[in-house]
Amino acid sequence: MKILVLNCGSSSIKFQVLKMPEEKLLIKGVIERIGEENSIIESKNEYHKMKLNEPVLNHEKGIEKVLSLIIKPEFKVMNDIKEIGAIGHRVVHGGEEFSDSVIINEKVIDVIKSTIPLAPLHNPANLKGILACRSELPGIPQIAVFDTAFHQTLPDYAFRYAIPKTYYERHKIRRYGFHGTSHKYVAGIGAEILRKDIKDTKLITAHLGNGASISAIQGGNSIDTSMGFTPLEGLIMGTRSGDLDPAILIFLEKNENLSADDIDQLLNKRSGVLGLFGQNDMRILEEKYYAGDALAIFVMTLYAYRLVKYIGAYNAVLGGADALIYTAGVGENTPPLRELVAKFLAHMGLSINNELNNKVIRYGEPVDISGKDSKIKTLVIPTNEELAIARDTCILIRS
Ligand code: AMP
Repeated sequence: MKILVLNCGSSSIKFQVLKMPEEKLLIKGVIERIGEENSIIESKNEYHKMKLNEPVLNHEKGIEKVLSLIIKPEFKVMNDIKEIGAIGHRVVHGGEEFSDSVIINEKVIDVIKSTIPLAPLHNPANLKGILACRSELPGIPQIAVFDTAFHQTLPDYAFRYAIPKTYYERHKIRRYGFHGTSHKYVAGIGAEILRKDIKDTKLITAHLGNGASISAIQGGNSIDTSMGFTPLEGLIMGTRSGDLDPAILIFLEKNENLSADDIDQLLNKRSGVLGLFGQNDMRILEEKYYAGDALAIFVMTLYAYRLVKYIGAYNAVLGGADALIYTAGVGENTPPLRELVAKFLAHMGLSINNELNNKVIRYGEPVDISGKDSKIKTLVIPTNEELAIARDTCILIRS
């Protein structure tokens, strides 16, 4: 079966077609700058590569473009769009309603709509993608795979905040957690590498990309995670602050005359590595770190230190982890960060093989970089959220 996987962001659509259950990637691509004059359309596979600049006015037009691309004869993916057996959508927020992926029907659409206040940037775009597919490909089943679903197993003492209960009841203010598809995917592979049934594992998964989150996973269930009500909480990220004293917001409002929107922009778009270092590409931070640049050393250390505090906390709540798993752009590609973390955690009996660690950049496959006799394994596992979405889609369609 050919499955179209769609990740519709506010101004982009990422897509892949996979042949399932063989898990063969047939084509992948992206449309960026939707709504602007110079949208960028890229797609490639083993037979052909294409890059176009032409306006894509909205998500409906974007989906039309994706569907026209994947039937282009040069790509040899399919002759007719009807060969698509199902569509899997990444949906960022499923609120408290969804603890697993679901086949999309009217009720699911209503819930995604009702969750828009919790994810105002993401859920409207996800919904546009779903509705556009519905009108372009009527009758083809669509599946929603939620970023929040995997974390619905958090116990209430992990997901509630210590503010009056009214706000939980009235606005559902609680920890939701994000990147769930990725945490679940790498935990599954981690268990295989450890040669254990996932039910017998205690894992700490660090998804470190431009957005970053870390999870404590016991027996395959997420029991805590660093992102909260929104993806702003937790670790230092590319442009997001992560944890900070909430009183800073009140201080800034009073002393810098910042509005709610200003503070939102400041913490989501101008903070994190960007705010500390001046730009947010970890490759440049790494280069300057190796060159001995004092600011780069400080920022890399701060990034690692904040990560270490979460690893310590999650090691405690798990009662001792079996493995620490790194994934996503930064986690998979930044040896000095992994080395710093290992130095901080030597007292827990965690060590890494430095030579191997330095080789693991764009490795493309899972690697165990643990030191000999390390009590806690360190694994680097490339994430593949699209494949995880295609797997869920395939399972739901077949059931
Ligand atoms: P993601 O959100 O998972 O796509 O990760 C994006 C981030 O990963 C980028 O902002 C970079 O900082 C980082 N990244 C990607 N490739 C590398 C690399 N080869 N070395 C270090 N960092 C990288």
